[in-house]
Amino acid sequence: MTSLAIAANGLRKSYGDKTVLDGIDLAVPEGTIFSLLGPNGAGKTTAVKILSTLITAGPASGEIRVAGHDLATDPQAVRAAIGVTGQFSAVDGLITGEENMLLMADLHHLSKAEGRRVCAALLERFDLTDAAKKPASTYSGGMKRRLDIAMTLVGDPRIIFLDEPTTGLDPRSRHNMWQIIRELVTNGVTVFLTTQYLEEADQLADRIAVLNDGKIAAQGTAEELKRLIPGGHVRLRFYDPSTYRSAARALREASRDDEALALQIPSDGSQRELRSILDWLDSAGIEADELTVHTPDLDDVFFALTGSTVPAQNNQTEENVR
Ligand code: ADP
Repeated sequence: MTSLAIAANGLRKSYGDKTVLDGIDLAVPEGTIFSLLGPNGAGKTTAVKILSTLITAGPASGEIRVAGHDLATDPQAVRAAIGVTGQFSAVDGLITGEENMLLMADLHHLSKAEGRRVCAALLERFDLTDAAKKPASTYSGGMKRRLDIAMTLVGDPRIIFLDEPTTGLDPRSRHNMWQIIRELVTNGVTVFLTTQYLEEADQLADRIAVLNDGKIAAQGTAEELKRLIPGGHVRLRFYDPSTYRSAARALREASRDDEALALQIPSDGSQRELRSILDWLDSAGIEADELTVHTPDLDDVFFALTGSTVPAQNNQTEENVR
């Protein structure tokens, strides 16, 4: 059994009489990407701040362990094992990218030589070598995010919290960041990612928890979540019109697309349902030329679970990210 990088039971937090997190359970296996997905104000940043020891959990919370350490009794050990980047960036715009990096090396008590070696390697890895001697304030949003992650990696964390790492980035910088996140996990790091972008969670996360109104509305892989809601179907296509017509007569439950010579049968996309559809086709003597399984996408799930409207995509530009 893999061990858990993050295990939280009944995580709670209130501000005054406003409940922000209402008892959420999290279990994140080591070496995976976990995404906390939710609309603005759902409590994502609050969860990250608690798990990364920036603020304390509410007194009614259950046990919370990060990197195997109890958050309440051993926050120092948690801090030594994690890195945090995102909305509260550590990047200082007045000094250069390289100076920002070297400062982190000092903070982690690396020797001068080791610090220089580690920083140069990370600047190279994140394509920042050419910009290393320029003030960080001159960097684009994407470059700042890359520097931020590079700075976090100086401490060689086992768990990285990324709070909305691509909010406001242009599509190209976003894809670039996705690649970086995937590479982190290849190297064994656990990533806890918050996002309001469904596509991002779908692309990256091994497991997704949908946070809504301080509660986890659903949790699972993207595929499991998609199976939770109706809308999935199996589509059968025929090349020959007369075969299509006889199939349509035999499968009265199916909805017809006469133009495409296709039939749609409602299905949750599970193996069990697929098998029963295939058995049914066999017994009716129907052979389709194409068979495709359609599951609802994450948007459908998100809207069904949160009742939320579409989160604004790219409503910021590169320049006003920070
Ligand atoms: P998200 O990251 O999902 O957008 P947040 O965790 O930032 O959500 O915020 C969740 C809710 O908690 C919001 O309604 C926000 O106004 C409230 N909140 C966050 N921090 C504080 C605070 N320090 N004092 C009072 N309310 C807060």
